[in-house]
Amino acid sequence: MEPPIFYVEPDSLSDGLLVLSKAESHHAVKVMRMKQGDVLIAVDGLGGGFRGEIAKITREKLVEVRVHSQTRNMGEPQVVLTLAAGLSTGSKFDTVIEKGTELGVKRFVPLITEKSKVTVDDPKRARTKVARYEKVALAAMKQCRRSYRPEIAQPVTFTDYLKEIGPESVNLIFHPSAGSRPLEESGLSAHTRRVNIIVGAEPGFSAEEMNLALDKGIKAVSLGRRILRAETAGPVACALVMNALGELR
Ligand code: SAH
Repeated sequence: MEPPIFYVEPDSLSDGLLVLSKAESHHAVKVMRMKQGDVLIAVDGLGGGFRGEIAKITREKLVEVRVHSQTRNMGEPQVVLTLAAGLSTGSKFDTVIEKGTELGVKRFVPLITEKSKVTVDDPKRARTKVARYEKVALAAMKQCRRSYRPEIAQPVTFTDYLKEIGPESVNLIFHPSAGSRPLEESGLSAHTRRVNIIVGAEPGFSAEEMNLALDKGIKAVSLGRRILRAETAGPVACALVMNALGELR
């Protein structure tokens, strides 16, 4: 069985040793009943991975790990995938973050679209939301054995997000309409290194938003004849793109 994975703060390694946080130590010792000598992997959320064994459980019940080897980018895809998804109320966006992380998304952008009822004018509320999504991403990163914790951007409006993206990436907007084309026609190739996926919230995109995107050269992609829920569409779009780029083999 592969060793269990824990999160460790970046730059924790010192003299071949690293110490897990109180919460991660508790999980190792109390929940997983790990003992001195047991092997584990620690990931720092920035692509760093450390394989080692428990050297000691301190009196404060912190797990001290003797590191045997280090890795870079364990579990990470070759492509830099960004998922910009319409922000929704409740926990649906958590699902998008969790599944997107499992599929290899590097950066999530919560989008405020014209028709979505969500507004985050209050910066404090926006920060609280982002902090919650970061927790979801951290848990998913460990669960799926990645070493990079996807970044969660502060929520932005659809129009502002479009200003951020350029021709260095393949930019795709998923929209159920007669004008949308299958993913195979979207220009993904073996040379693709960056992809931006844009999906809407439950009410979808307005005609103005679609025109803005199309004017910018963003390709409208179809997911078929059935309308998927927003929290289905985001992960499905990621899975299809990752599969097309050979990342799901
Ligand atoms: N009534 C809305 C449906 C939105 S579904 C509309 O007509 O646009 C939520 C989001 O999921 C959409 O904005 C789109 O990004 C994505 N989506 C759902 N089903 C899709 C499909 N069949 N093709 C392309 N995108 C789809």
